[in-house]
Amino acid sequence: MSTDYDVIIIGGGPTGLASAVYTGRSLLKTLVLERQVPGGQIALSAAIDNYPGFADGISGYEFAEAFLKHARRFGAEIRIGVGATSIERNDDGVFTVGLSNNTAVTTKAVILAMGRHPRKLEVPGYEKLFGNGVSVCATCDGAFFRNVPVAVVGGGNSAVEEGHFLTRYASEIYSIHRRDSFTAQKILIEEYLQEPKVLPVWNSVVEEIYGDKEVDGIRVRHLMTDRVVEYPVKAVFVFIGWIPNSELVKELVDLDDQGRVIVNELMETKVPGLFAAGDLCVRPIYQLANVVADGVQAAVSVERYLENNKH
Ligand code: NAP
Repeated sequence: MSTDYDVIIIGGGPTGLASAVYTGRSLLKTLVLERQVPGGQIALSAAIDNYPGFADGISGYEFAEAFLKHARRFGAEIRIGVGATSIERNDDGVFTVGLSNNTAVTTKAVILAMGRHPRKLEVPGYEKLFGNGVSVCATCDGAFFRNVPVAVVGGGNSAVEEGHFLTRYASEIYSIHRRDSFTAQKILIEEYLQEPKVLPVWNSVVEEIYGDKEVDGIRVRHLMTDRVVEYPVKAVFVFIGWIPNSELVKELVDLDDQGRVIVNELMETKVPGLFAAGDLCVRPIYQLANVVADGVQAAVSVERYLENNKH
């Protein structure tokens, strides 16, 4: 059976591009679909300091560019601005992938590497002021808020890392967390709390973000005392976790209760020929190095699958 591609990789972040390097090197005809920016979320990261081998760190943008170049070098076709809108497995095992430009392509195997998107804060003002002071990316928007107070919401690695980045610009950073300590890596917490501009607000949640055309402040409730305090911040940076981009495949594969795709150690889903990798999946940790490794594993599994299922 002839198909347009041997493998289609949906998602052009580090996971998908790592898969593409490997499938390209194995001379599989490879298409990568990236509906937004190549490099995914990592392209927005100011500095990557924990990817082994980069002793001086590397910017997310440079890292994404290097990955893209590497995947292209081995022949992967990368379509930017085109997403997958449907996936169907036909009786003969061939997949038809519908595209956002209203065309469709066929392939023998698919790797799902769609990643995840930031969780929204469900409070009044979040939607209205998103893009006008409410942000989920310090690297993108931090520089707009020089010498003014800002808030950071969340207590994991993202909040602490991005909050630390904001110390370059903001006058004060009210770091609001619903627990009495951060859950990020110890070294990150230490560096963050040493910054005099960082003012932790423990056991507290944002109740409202107010302002007409831009953020003028937030109302914050202390969970133990119920006392509400207003902070006159000009921006609110929200890092409260992630939601997997699994909508496209929710009827096709098994998901856990958080909507993450369930895979085995070979990155196989329950559908033969359909693999998934990286942030989209249930993983023990979500570090750049292991989601890249997932992409590599998925590619090798695709190779073996195609060897064993010659169409
Ligand atoms: P995360 O670890 O899931 O942390 C989410 C944070 O948001 C937690 O502090 C959580 O509080 C809080 N939260 C969740 N829902 C909330 C709500 N409705 N209101 C207020 N607070 C809320 O997310 P993440 O920090 O983005 O990290 C995700 C993964 O990426 C992690 O595995 C992390 O290690 C990895 N990551 C790694 C690096 C790095 O290695 N440099 C950088 C960024 C991310 P509770 O704890 O109370 O639930």
